[in-house]
Amino acid sequence: MVDLKGQYNDIKDIVNPSIQEVIENTTFINGPKVHEFQKNLESYLGVKNVIPCANGTDALQIAMMGLGLKPGDEVITTDFTFAATVEVIALLQLTPVLVDVNDDDFNINIEAIKRAITSKTKAIVPVHLFGQCANMEAIMEIAQEHDFFVIEDNAQAIGANYTYSNGTKVKAGTIGHVGATSFFPSKNLGCYGDGGAIFTNDDNLAHTIRGIVNHGMYERYHHDVVGVNSRLDSIQAAVLDAKLPRLDNYNKSRQSAAKKYSKALEGIESIITPKTVSKSCEGICDTCDCHVFHQYTLRIKGVDRDALVKHLNDKGIPCGVYYPIPLHRQKAYLDERYKESDFEVTNQLVKDVISLPMHTELDDEQMEFITSTIIKFING
Ligand SMILES: *Cc1c(COP(=O)(O)O)cnc(C)c1O
Repeated sequence: MVDLKGQYNDIKDIVNPSIQEVIENTTFINGPKVHEFQKNLESYLGVKNVIPCANGTDALQIAMMGLGLKPGDEVITTDFTFAATVEVIALLQLTPVLVDVNDDDFNINIEAIKRAITSKTKAIVPVHLFGQCANMEAIMEIAQEHDFFVIEDNAQAIGANYTYSNGTKVKAGTIGHVGATSFFPSKNLGCYGDGGAIFTNDDNLAHTIRGIVNHGMYERYHHDVVGVNSRLDSIQAAVLDAKLPRLDNYNKSRQSAAKKYSKALEGIESIITPKTVSKSCEGICDTCDCHVFHQYTLRIKGVDRDALVKHLNDKGIPCGVYYPIPLHRQKAYLDERYKESDFEVTNQLVKDVISLPMHTELDDEQMEFITSTIIKFING
């Protein structure tokens, strides 16, 4: 699914000395590399504050802690995402309220958000799934009207642009009150272990969060709030700082691979190729960065999806089903308020989706083999 080795070989001469420097300096925690990376990421994203932390799940949790959400507060989020998004809501004793998604971009559905609002609703967590932003303009409008917080789960869309209807472009993760991302190795900007970060333009919130990541300390050994221990270590920061200047090129490689996949698979009746929904972009995005293809996800119609997965695996082609079970049907997140009829789209997507290998090192020959194997299977 990913080729981290190929990418490493390409940047080895930059990454190795950068890691070596951390080891020589023995500044393993909160060293200068962490600060450098933080500053560079702030300027890349055009956001006032980046707070690095230990992983993307922590980033989401700490963002919610920083906003002061209270047990029993309801948080509306998508039924079709990685479990980390709802897990942290539940861990903080907030109530996750899962809602259905769109069937074109797989992102949280605006009408479904509106229907789920109650007097207890306090926040919305859109997830920019597979590399494309949710409808942030509509979400921010709802939030403004009801005084909700918006926490963007940007684990899959770092570097993506969001274009407002007036044409203004901003980076994914910097639109809501706070954004959270992950630097898990297979993410678009991945380190060589675990890592994450929180983004916000609100300086007061940033100050609160900087204390929370470090045991609630704002002054050494003074613990003003209950915090956690969640740090990006300096070695990971060294890797990330070496890769950040390449992120746009990495995302371009993904877009170019997506475009080739879609070209090879277009016109086949049982396949729906991924859609980009930004008005600034036609067809597959390779100009405006509205989709950075963390995953390239097809929908398969009228053909046994699981048999196709098995066939591809048998031919040595890795592929994934993200996600095979909707969150509202996961034991940990059952809630009597949910009705199956509220989740028509996710209930269908879990049966249809298949994600093809997607990374920065795909070559034409590999993609040709993958698409021709799919086409041969479908044509029987
Ligand atoms: C990867 C991911 C996370 C969690 O990130 P970790 O760094 O693995 O904790 C959260 N949300 C989404 C949507 C993700 O894809």
